[in-house]
Amino acid sequence: MPIYTAPTKDMAFVLHEVLKVHEQDIPGYEDLDADTTSAILEEAGKLSENVLAPLNPVGDRQGCTLENGVVRTPEGFKDAYEQMRAGGWMGLDADPEYGGQGMPYVLNCAVGEMFVSSNMAFNMYQGLTHGAYSAIHAHGTEAQKQTYLPNMIDGIWSGTMNLTEPHCGTDLGLIRTKAEPQDDGSYSITGSKIWISAGEHDLSENIIHLVLAKVPGGPDGVKGISLFIVPKFMVNEDGSLGERNAVSCGGLEEKMGIHGNATCVMNYDGAKGFLVGELHKGMRAMFTMMNEARLGVGLQGYAQGAVAYQNALGFARDRLQGRDVTGVKNPDGPADPIIVHPDVRRNLLAQKSFVEGARAFTFWGAQMIDRAHRNEDADAEGMISLLTPVIKGFLTDKGFETTVLAQQTLGGSGFTREWGLEQFVRDARITMIYEGTNGIQSLDLVGRKLGQSGGKHVMAFFELVKSFAAEHKGQDETLDRDFLDPLKSASKDLQAAAMYFMQNGMKSPNNALSGSYDFMHLFGHVCLGLMWSKMAVAAKAALAAGTSDEAFYTSKLATGRYYMARELTETGTLLKRIESGAEPVMELDAANF
Ligand SMILES: Cc1cc2nc3c(=O)[nH]c(=O)nc-3n(C[C@H](O)[C@H](O)[C@H](O)COP(=O)(O)OP(=O)(O)OC[C@H]3O[C@@H](n4cnc5c(N)ncnc54)[C@H](O)[C@@H]3O)c2cc1C
Repeated sequence: MPIYTAPTKDMAFVLHEVLKVHEQDIPGYEDLDADTTSAILEEAGKLSENVLAPLNPVGDRQGCTLENGVVRTPEGFKDAYEQMRAGGWMGLDADPEYGGQGMPYVLNCAVGEMFVSSNMAFNMYQGLTHGAYSAIHAHGTEAQKQTYLPNMIDGIWSGTMNLTEPHCGTDLGLIRTKAEPQDDGSYSITGSKIWISAGEHDLSENIIHLVLAKVPGGPDGVKGISLFIVPKFMVNEDGSLGERNAVSCGGLEEKMGIHGNATCVMNYDGAKGFLVGELHKGMRAMFTMMNEARLGVGLQGYAQGAVAYQNALGFARDRLQGRDVTGVKNPDGPADPIIVHPDVRRNLLAQKSFVEGARAFTFWGAQMIDRAHRNEDADAEGMISLLTPVIKGFLTDKGFETTVLAQQTLGGSGFTREWGLEQFVRDARITMIYEGTNGIQSLDLVGRKLGQSGGKHVMAFFELVKSFAAEHKGQDETLDRDFLDPLKSASKDLQAAAMYFMQNGMKSPNNALSGSYDFMHLFGHVCLGLMWSKMAVAAKAALAAGTSDEAFYTSKLATGRYYMARELTETGTLLKRIESGAEPVMELDAANF
């Protein structure tokens, strides 16, 4: 049985010593003092360790079932869901005007990481509700907000996002679901959606579907898409549940992972729907929530890596095989624990340095989202929209890779069900695909975000790295050598790649598109290099102040040094690949593959 220990100390380090949340001039951050955050993180940690984690293998084994249109979630899910509701976790960062607690998003992310690490499939039920809540909150009328949000924040109602159809996922301009205007101002929705997460289940009394559809006669392609609320049960004037709407689950998907989450075919047969926001502006409405939704998936990626790493570490400390070549470490035993071997340590450090860097990167991104929303700061909005595809694409690719590395640490045990590693691998895999595949994230980064506002945001990122390095330069020789110099060098690789795209992308867009994936990874490495440099500054400050927890901070420095020396150096290879241009990728005729 896999274990999970909530990493509350690491989270507090990022929040208070690296991001210094309590010093930020962001409304609501005054509530993020160390005592409040630690009380909240401890409580979320207990729920994750004691309730959600034990249910994770149960959900994986049992999966969901569909019988006579009713979807049943695995044993124990309903009870856990009620505990989540009772704890008010679903409305942690929701608007207090509709019953939420109004806490900053950055704290929601910290809590979310624990829920996802301990049980990703389960947490998706409330994750999707949060997405639907955000869409209605941002674009709904006041009446729609009053009707739906309080119950969604409470969790007694849940939500879904319906975009994908059998013939289109990436290219949503092709969707066929129809929305026909009715005399009473509502719309009649007809069509079929596939792979809808949490589309039908037994955890909540009502499900509020958000559905993309086209009104006949509207513009072609994505410009003709509108967004609709389609409740499973209609809501009466007094807020009570009315008749069943014409929406049903037509089937459950058999899939590689996240078995505890119901992935549904949803059929809309003239269902009553209500327009959200402006007609034909459905894609724009979806895009306003994209940063949060994609950051949430990036978080899922590294959170699976985080729990996998914990289990790999436990195994590596216990498993006795071979002897340390430099001298026996466990003379009373038949062999030494495998953690003594350099190759096992390399593997563990690749996992650890990624997970801790990714956590800092995600929380930093969440802080930017808070600044963009709560301070209406356009620069923060620009920066997070640039970094969003990097957070989603890089952290899910590397998160999945981390689960595989962790599986490798366990040898044959990693391949067996008993140890649980294979579930983390299977569950993490979807994060690279949904919410826009990682290939599409890289196109978004290079095709849209890089040149946005005349390249202003990417220039601001380069400036941020430069000024951080300049601010700390010369304070400490080892900080320069181990962190700031490698960071500057990696950032130069990133700038060279951006320059290559500017100079060669005009000649042929394929020069940029062939290197976009490598660029997303190059960017991700520089971001994690920046995070490790920030963590090194914080760790050195704590050590200089005479901390009583020396081991914690020296281990941060050693882990960071590993990342800078062994992972960040990939930027050189990635730059070379980008500079090889379109030819190696495009040369072969499709027929000759
Ligand atoms: C378990 C699960 C849960 C899901 N949950 C939801 C949900 O809740 N709601 C929802 O609406 N959808 C959901 N989806 C759908 C998911 O978002 C899509 O599968 C995903 O966006 C990719 O779309 P697609 O599968 O149609 O792939 P396609 O669009 O067919 O793409 C196939 C491949 O081609 C590549 N590709 C496509 N176009 C381009 C291009 N222009 N340039 C370069 N490469 C391209 C893609 O990167 C991909 O690798 C879910 C899917 C799964 C499997």
